[in-house]
Amino acid sequence: MAPLNQEAIRSLASFKSVPERPVVSVYLDVDGRRWPRFADCESRLERLVRDADDRVSVERTSASEDLRRVLNHVRGGLDRTRTRGLAVFASADELWEVFELPVRVKDQVVVNQSPHVRQLERVVDTYPGFGVLLADRQRARMFVYELNQLVDRSELFDELPRHPDDAGDRDRGHERSRLEAAAHQHLKRAAHIAFEVWKQHPFDHLILAAAPELVNELEANLHSYLKDRVAARINVPAGASEPEITASAMVVEEQVERGREAAVVDRLRSAAAAGRGAVVGLPAVLSALAERRVESLVVSDGYEVAGWRCGGCSQLAAKGRTCTVCGQEMELVEDVIEEAVEDALLQSCHVEVCVDNADLDVIGRIGALLRF
Ligand SMILES: [Zn+2]
Repeated sequence: MAPLNQEAIRSLASFKSVPERPVVSVYLDVDGRRWPRFADCESRLERLVRDADDRVSVERTSASEDLRRVLNHVRGGLDRTRTRGLAVFASADELWEVFELPVRVKDQVVVNQSPHVRQLERVVDTYPGFGVLLADRQRARMFVYELNQLVDRSELFDELPRHPDDAGDRDRGHERSRLEAAAHQHLKRAAHIAFEVWKQHPFDHLILAAAPELVNELEANLHSYLKDRVAARINVPAGASEPEITASAMVVEEQVERGREAAVVDRLRSAAAAGRGAVVGLPAVLSALAERRVESLVVSDGYEVAGWRCGGCSQLAAKGRTCTVCGQEMELVEDVIEEAVEDALLQSCHVEVCVDNADLDVIGRIGALLRF
Protein backbone atom coordinates (compact mmCIF):
# COMPACT_ATOMS: atom_id res chain seq x y z
CA MET A 1 0.00 0.00 0.00
CA ALA A 2 1.33 3.41 -0.99
CA PRO A 3 1.90 6.06 1.69
CA LEU A 4 -0.24 9.12 1.13
CA ASN A 5 1.69 12.29 0.42
CA GLN A 6 1.83 15.12 -2.09
CA GLU A 7 4.10 13.06 -4.37
CA ALA A 8 1.66 10.13 -4.50
CA ILE A 9 -1.22 12.47 -5.34
CA ARG A 10 0.75 14.23 -8.05
CA SER A 11 1.64 10.94 -9.66
CA LEU A 12 -1.99 9.77 -9.53
CA ALA A 13 -3.19 13.07 -11.00
CA SER A 14 -0.83 12.63 -13.95
CA PHE A 15 -2.29 9.20 -14.84
CA LYS A 16 -4.32 9.42 -18.04
CA SER A 17 -6.31 6.48 -19.26
CA VAL A 18 -7.60 5.52 -22.69
CA PRO A 19 -11.35 5.82 -23.37
CA GLU A 20 -12.10 2.06 -23.25
CA ARG A 21 -10.23 1.74 -19.92
CA PRO A 22 -11.37 4.70 -17.78
CA VAL A 23 -10.29 5.13 -14.15
CA VAL A 24 -12.59 4.02 -11.36
CA SER A 25 -12.08 6.11 -8.20
CA VAL A 26 -13.79 4.89 -5.04
CA TYR A 27 -13.89 6.61 -1.65
CA LEU A 28 -15.57 4.85 1.27
CA ASP A 29 -16.20 5.99 4.82
CA VAL A 30 -15.31 2.92 6.94
CA ASP A 31 -15.07 4.76 10.28
CA GLY A 32 -15.90 2.18 12.94
CA ARG A 33 -17.25 4.87 15.28
CA ARG A 34 -19.92 5.78 12.73
CA TRP A 35 -20.36 2.35 11.18
CA PRO A 36 -19.84 -0.27 13.90
CA ARG A 37 -21.05 -3.03 11.55
CA PHE A 38 -18.71 -3.52 8.58
CA ALA A 39 -21.64 -5.02 6.65
CA ASP A 40 -23.15 -1.52 6.54
CA CYS A 41 -20.06 -0.21 4.76
CA GLU A 42 -20.26 -3.08 2.30
CA SER A 43 -23.90 -2.48 1.49
CA ARG A 44 -23.32 1.27 1.00
CA LEU A 45 -20.54 0.44 -1.43
CA GLU A 46 -22.70 -2.13 -3.23
CA ARG A 47 -25.32 0.58 -3.83
CA LEU A 48 -22.73 3.09 -5.09
CA VAL A 49 -21.18 0.50 -7.38
CA ARG A 50 -24.58 -0.50 -8.77
CA ASP A 51 -25.45 3.15 -9.57
CA ALA A 52 -22.08 3.78 -11.19
CA ASP A 53 -22.34 0.56 -13.17
CA ASP A 54 -25.78 1.59 -14.48
CA ARG A 55 -24.21 4.77 -15.80
CA VAL A 56 -21.16 3.18 -17.45
CA SER A 57 -22.25 -0.30 -18.53
CA VAL A 58 -23.69 0.90 -21.87
CA GLU A 59 -20.23 2.10 -22.89
CA ARG A 60 -18.79 -1.41 -22.56
CA THR A 61 -15.53 -0.32 -21.01
CA SER A 62 -13.38 -2.07 -18.40
CA ALA A 63 -15.03 0.07 -15.71
CA SER A 64 -17.71 -2.49 -14.76
CA GLU A 65 -15.06 -5.07 -14.04
CA ASP A 66 -12.95 -2.57 -12.08
CA LEU A 67 -15.97 -1.64 -9.98
CA ARG A 68 -16.50 -5.31 -9.13
CA ARG A 69 -12.81 -5.69 -8.33
CA VAL A 70 -13.00 -2.83 -5.82
CA LEU A 71 -16.14 -4.32 -4.29
CA ASN A 72 -14.44 -7.69 -3.89
CA HIS A 73 -11.41 -6.04 -2.33
CA VAL A 74 -13.61 -4.39 0.30
CA ARG A 75 -15.59 -7.59 0.89
CA GLY A 76 -12.25 -9.21 1.70
CA GLY A 77 -12.34 -7.09 4.86
CA LEU A 78 -9.94 -4.58 6.34
CA ASP A 79 -8.41 -3.78 9.69
CA ARG A 80 -10.40 -0.82 10.95
CA THR A 81 -8.42 -0.18 14.13
CA ARG A 82 -6.40 2.45 12.26
CA THR A 83 -8.36 2.89 9.06
CA ARG A 84 -11.34 5.24 8.86
CA GLY A 85 -11.35 6.04 5.17
CA LEU A 86 -10.60 4.01 2.09
CA ALA A 87 -9.59 5.27 -1.35
CA VAL A 88 -9.12 2.91 -4.31
CA PHE A 89 -8.13 3.76 -7.88
CA ALA A 90 -8.38 1.18 -10.64
CA SER A 91 -8.00 1.06 -14.39
CA ALA A 92 -7.81 -2.42 -15.92
CA ASP A 93 -4.19 -3.68 -15.81
CA GLU A 94 -2.77 -0.18 -15.76
CA LEU A 95 -3.66 1.05 -12.29
CA TRP A 96 -4.49 -0.40 -8.89
CA GLU A 97 -3.84 1.84 -5.92
CA VAL A 98 -5.30 1.46 -2.43
CA PHE A 99 -4.98 4.02 0.38
CA GLU A 100 -6.13 3.08 3.88
CA LEU A 101 -6.51 6.42 5.62
CA PRO A 102 -6.63 7.16 9.35
CA VAL A 103 -9.18 9.91 8.64
CA ARG A 104 -12.68 9.79 7.23
CA VAL A 105 -13.61 10.40 3.60
CA LYS A 106 -16.96 11.02 1.91
CA ASP A 107 -18.54 8.10 0.01
CA GLN A 108 -17.97 8.66 -3.68
CA VAL A 109 -17.59 6.64 -6.86
CA VAL A 110 -16.33 8.41 -9.98
CA VAL A 111 -15.57 6.94 -13.40
CA ASN A 112 -13.45 9.32 -15.42
CA GLN A 113 -10.39 9.58 -17.67
CA SER A 114 -8.13 10.34 -14.69
CA PRO A 115 -8.13 9.49 -10.97
CA HIS A 116 -10.40 11.69 -8.88
CA VAL A 117 -7.86 13.01 -6.37
CA ARG A 118 -9.58 15.91 -4.65
CA GLN A 119 -10.52 14.06 -1.47
CA LEU A 120 -6.95 12.80 -1.13
CA GLU A 121 -5.67 16.33 -1.60
CA ARG A 122 -8.08 17.53 1.05
CA VAL A 123 -6.82 14.90 3.50
CA VAL A 124 -3.16 15.80 2.95
CA ASP A 125 -3.88 19.52 3.12
CA THR A 126 -6.14 19.31 6.18
CA TYR A 127 -3.78 17.13 8.22
CA PRO A 128 -0.28 18.42 7.59
CA GLY A 129 2.52 16.68 9.42
CA PHE A 130 3.52 18.27 12.71
CA GLY A 131 5.95 17.71 15.52
CA VAL A 132 5.69 18.25 19.27
CA LEU A 133 8.85 18.93 21.27
CA LEU A 134 8.47 18.63 25.04
CA ALA A 135 11.26 19.56 27.40
CA ASP A 136 12.03 20.26 31.03
CA ARG A 137 15.45 20.46 32.70
CA GLN A 138 16.16 16.75 32.38
CA ARG A 139 13.83 15.27 29.87
CA ALA A 140 13.17 15.89 26.18
CA ARG A 141 10.59 14.11 24.04
CA MET A 142 9.89 14.55 20.36
CA PHE A 143 6.72 13.26 18.66
CA VAL A 144 5.83 13.42 14.96
CA TYR A 145 2.30 13.09 13.60
CA GLU A 146 1.23 12.48 10.03
CA LEU A 147 -2.48 12.41 9.15
CA ASN A 148 -3.14 12.68 12.89
CA GLN A 149 -1.22 9.47 13.59
CA LEU A 150 1.90 9.24 15.68
CA VAL A 151 4.62 8.09 13.26
CA ASP A 152 7.85 8.80 15.14
CA ARG A 153 9.05 9.49 18.66
CA SER A 154 12.36 10.05 20.31
CA GLU A 155 13.27 10.53 23.98
CA LEU A 156 16.23 11.86 25.89
CA PHE A 157 16.99 11.92 29.60
CA ASP A 158 19.93 13.91 30.99
CA GLU A 159 20.50 13.22 34.65
CA LEU A 160 21.06 16.42 36.62
CA PRO A 161 24.38 16.69 38.49
CA ARG A 162 23.99 15.15 41.97
CA HIS A 163 23.71 17.60 44.84
CA PRO A 164 26.54 16.79 47.27
CA ASP A 165 25.18 16.32 50.84
CA ASP A 166 28.07 18.08 52.49
CA ALA A 167 27.99 21.20 50.37
CA GLY A 168 28.62 24.22 52.55
CA ASP A 169 27.33 27.77 51.96
CA ARG A 170 30.47 28.52 50.00
CA ASP A 171 29.61 25.80 47.46
CA ARG A 172 25.93 26.64 46.96
CA GLY A 173 26.56 29.34 44.33
CA HIS A 174 28.90 27.07 42.45
CA GLU A 175 26.37 24.27 42.69
CA ARG A 176 23.62 26.45 41.22
CA SER A 177 25.72 27.46 38.25
CA ARG A 178 26.64 23.82 37.63
CA LEU A 179 22.91 22.97 37.50
CA GLU A 180 22.24 25.91 35.19
CA ALA A 181 25.02 24.86 32.83
CA ALA A 182 23.64 21.32 32.76
CA ALA A 183 20.16 22.66 31.88
CA HIS A 184 21.57 24.84 29.05
CA GLN A 185 23.40 21.82 27.71
CA HIS A 186 20.27 19.70 27.96
CA LEU A 187 18.11 22.19 26.01
CA LYS A 188 20.76 22.25 23.28
CA ARG A 189 20.60 18.48 23.06
CA ALA A 190 16.78 18.60 23.00
CA ALA A 191 16.87 21.01 20.03
CA HIS A 192 19.39 18.75 18.32
CA ILE A 193 17.15 15.71 18.75
CA ALA A 194 14.22 17.61 17.24
CA PHE A 195 16.32 18.35 14.17
CA GLU A 196 17.51 14.74 13.84
CA VAL A 197 13.88 13.55 13.96
CA TRP A 198 12.84 16.22 11.42
CA LYS A 199 15.48 14.93 9.00
CA GLN A 200 13.87 11.47 9.18
CA HIS A 201 10.26 12.71 9.13
CA PRO A 202 9.97 16.28 7.84
CA PHE A 203 6.87 18.06 9.16
CA ASP A 204 5.14 21.40 8.52
CA HIS A 205 4.58 22.74 12.04
CA LEU A 206 6.33 22.41 15.35
CA ILE A 207 4.57 22.78 18.69
CA LEU A 208 6.72 23.51 21.74
CA ALA A 209 5.82 22.33 25.22
CA ALA A 210 8.12 23.67 27.94
CA ALA A 211 7.82 25.76 31.08
CA PRO A 212 7.76 29.56 30.49
CA GLU A 213 11.31 30.00 31.89
CA LEU A 214 12.69 27.39 29.45
CA VAL A 215 10.68 27.78 26.26
CA ASN A 216 12.50 30.84 24.85
CA GLU A 217 15.88 29.22 25.32
CA LEU A 218 14.59 25.98 23.78
CA GLU A 219 13.33 27.86 20.74
CA ALA A 220 16.57 29.85 20.42
CA ASN A 221 18.51 26.57 20.26
CA LEU A 222 16.45 25.17 17.38
CA HIS A 223 17.89 24.82 13.90
CA SER A 224 16.65 27.68 11.71
CA TYR A 225 14.54 25.23 9.62
CA LEU A 226 12.64 24.36 12.78
CA LYS A 227 12.46 27.90 14.17
CA ASP A 228 10.53 28.85 11.04
CA ARG A 229 8.06 26.06 11.76
CA VAL A 230 7.19 26.85 15.35
CA ALA A 231 3.43 27.33 15.20
CA ALA A 232 2.34 27.22 18.83
CA ARG A 233 3.37 26.70 22.44
CA ILE A 234 1.35 24.50 24.73
CA ASN A 235 1.38 23.98 28.43
CA VAL A 236 1.86 20.23 28.77
CA PRO A 237 4.43 18.80 31.20
CA ALA A 238 7.29 16.89 29.63
CA GLY A 239 6.29 13.78 31.59
CA ALA A 240 2.66 13.77 30.38
CA SER A 241 1.15 10.55 29.04
CA GLU A 242 1.17 9.96 25.32
CA PRO A 243 -2.65 10.21 24.92
CA GLU A 244 -2.59 13.49 26.87
CA ILE A 245 0.12 14.92 24.60
CA THR A 246 -1.65 13.72 21.46
CA ALA A 247 -5.00 15.18 22.52
CA SER A 248 -3.53 18.62 23.35
CA ALA A 249 -1.51 18.65 20.14
CA MET A 250 -4.58 17.82 18.00
CA VAL A 251 -6.57 20.69 19.45
CA VAL A 252 -3.75 23.18 18.87
CA GLU A 253 -2.93 21.82 15.43
CA GLU A 254 -6.56 22.24 14.33
CA GLN A 255 -6.46 25.90 15.44
CA VAL A 256 -3.13 26.43 13.71
CA GLU A 257 -4.47 24.97 10.47
CA ARG A 258 -7.67 27.06 10.55
CA GLY A 259 -5.57 30.14 11.33
CA ARG A 260 -3.26 29.41 8.42
CA GLU A 261 -6.23 29.02 6.07
CA ALA A 262 -7.68 32.32 7.32
CA ALA A 263 -4.35 34.06 6.64
CA VAL A 264 -4.24 32.70 3.08
CA VAL A 265 -7.82 33.85 2.43
CA ASP A 266 -6.95 37.29 3.85
CA ARG A 267 -3.98 37.58 1.52
CA LEU A 268 -6.18 36.46 -1.37
CA ARG A 269 -8.90 38.97 -0.57
CA SER A 270 -6.68 42.00 -0.24
CA ALA A 271 -4.59 41.13 -3.30
CA ALA A 272 -7.73 40.59 -5.38
CA ALA A 273 -9.25 43.83 -4.09
CA ALA A 274 -6.07 45.69 -5.05
CA GLY A 275 -6.22 44.00 -8.46
CA ARG A 276 -2.70 42.67 -8.06
CA GLY A 277 -1.37 39.17 -7.47
CA ALA A 278 -4.65 37.31 -7.11
CA VAL A 279 -7.95 36.48 -8.78
CA VAL A 280 -11.20 35.21 -7.27
CA GLY A 281 -14.25 33.48 -8.69
CA LEU A 282 -14.37 30.47 -11.00
CA PRO A 283 -13.99 32.04 -14.50
CA ALA A 284 -10.97 34.14 -13.51
CA VAL A 285 -9.31 31.24 -11.69
CA LEU A 286 -9.74 28.89 -14.66
CA SER A 287 -8.24 31.48 -17.02
CA ALA A 288 -5.28 31.98 -14.69
CA LEU A 289 -4.75 28.20 -14.57
CA ALA A 290 -4.79 28.00 -18.37
CA GLU A 291 -2.17 30.77 -18.49
CA ARG A 292 -0.09 28.86 -15.89
CA ARG A 293 -0.01 31.88 -13.62
CA VAL A 294 -1.29 30.16 -10.46
CA GLU A 295 0.99 29.79 -7.46
CA SER A 296 -1.65 28.70 -4.89
CA LEU A 297 -5.14 27.49 -5.64
CA VAL A 298 -7.48 28.25 -2.74
CA VAL A 299 -10.73 26.32 -2.71
CA SER A 300 -13.62 25.87 -0.34
CA ASP A 301 -14.03 22.30 0.92
CA GLY A 302 -17.08 20.68 -0.71
CA TYR A 303 -17.37 23.15 -3.62
CA GLU A 304 -18.51 21.24 -6.72
CA VAL A 305 -19.87 22.56 -9.98
CA ALA A 306 -20.13 21.40 -13.57
CA GLY A 307 -18.00 23.10 -16.23
CA TRP A 308 -16.19 22.56 -19.48
CA ARG A 309 -12.88 21.30 -20.83
CA CYS A 310 -11.64 21.97 -24.32
CA GLY A 311 -10.78 18.91 -26.38
CA GLY A 312 -8.32 20.97 -28.41
CA CYS A 313 -6.17 23.01 -26.02
CA SER A 314 -7.51 21.35 -22.80
CA GLN A 315 -8.37 24.71 -21.24
CA LEU A 316 -11.01 24.61 -18.48
CA ALA A 317 -13.92 27.02 -18.53
CA ALA A 318 -16.96 27.85 -16.45
CA LYS A 319 -19.10 28.52 -19.53
CA GLY A 320 -19.36 26.41 -22.71
CA ARG A 321 -19.44 25.37 -25.24
CA THR A 322 -16.97 27.14 -27.53
CA CYS A 323 -13.40 27.53 -26.33
CA THR A 324 -12.38 31.17 -26.06
CA VAL A 325 -8.73 30.23 -26.61
CA CYS A 326 -8.76 27.99 -29.67
CA GLY A 327 -12.38 28.16 -30.84
CA GLN A 328 -12.96 24.40 -30.66
CA GLU A 329 -15.98 22.79 -29.07
CA MET A 330 -15.60 21.90 -25.37
CA GLU A 331 -16.87 18.90 -23.42
CA LEU A 332 -19.02 19.06 -20.31
CA VAL A 333 -17.23 17.91 -17.12
CA GLU A 334 -19.20 16.89 -14.04
CA ASP A 335 -17.02 18.66 -11.50
CA VAL A 336 -14.79 21.36 -12.90
CA ILE A 337 -13.36 22.12 -9.43
CA GLU A 338 -11.88 18.63 -9.30
CA GLU A 339 -10.40 19.17 -12.77
CA ALA A 340 -8.97 22.51 -11.64
CA VAL A 341 -7.33 20.88 -8.60
CA GLU A 342 -5.79 18.20 -10.85
CA ASP A 343 -4.47 20.82 -13.28
CA ALA A 344 -3.08 22.85 -10.39
CA LEU A 345 -1.26 19.80 -8.96
CA LEU A 346 0.20 18.99 -12.38
CA GLN A 347 1.49 22.55 -12.59
CA SER A 348 3.11 22.08 -9.15
CA CYS A 349 0.86 24.70 -7.56
CA HIS A 350 0.08 24.58 -3.89
CA VAL A 351 -3.56 23.65 -3.24
CA GLU A 352 -5.18 25.04 -0.09
CA VAL A 353 -8.49 23.43 0.85
CA CYS A 354 -10.32 25.69 3.32
CA VAL A 355 -12.85 24.29 5.77
CA ASP A 356 -15.75 26.50 6.92
CA ASN A 357 -14.20 29.75 5.77
CA ALA A 358 -17.09 32.20 5.28
CA ASP A 359 -14.77 34.88 3.83
CA LEU A 360 -13.79 32.57 0.99
CA ASP A 361 -17.40 31.59 0.35
CA VAL A 362 -18.35 35.27 -0.03
CA ILE A 363 -15.76 35.85 -2.78
CA GLY A 364 -16.87 32.87 -4.85
CA ARG A 365 -15.54 29.80 -3.01
CA ILE A 366 -12.40 29.70 -5.15
CA GLY A 367 -9.42 31.96 -5.76
CA ALA A 368 -5.81 31.89 -6.81
CA LEU A 369 -2.65 33.63 -5.68
CA LEU A 370 -0.65 34.34 -8.83
CA ARG A 371 3.01 33.93 -9.70
CA PHE A 372 2.93 37.04 -11.90
ZN1 LIG B 1 -9.39 25.28 -26.63
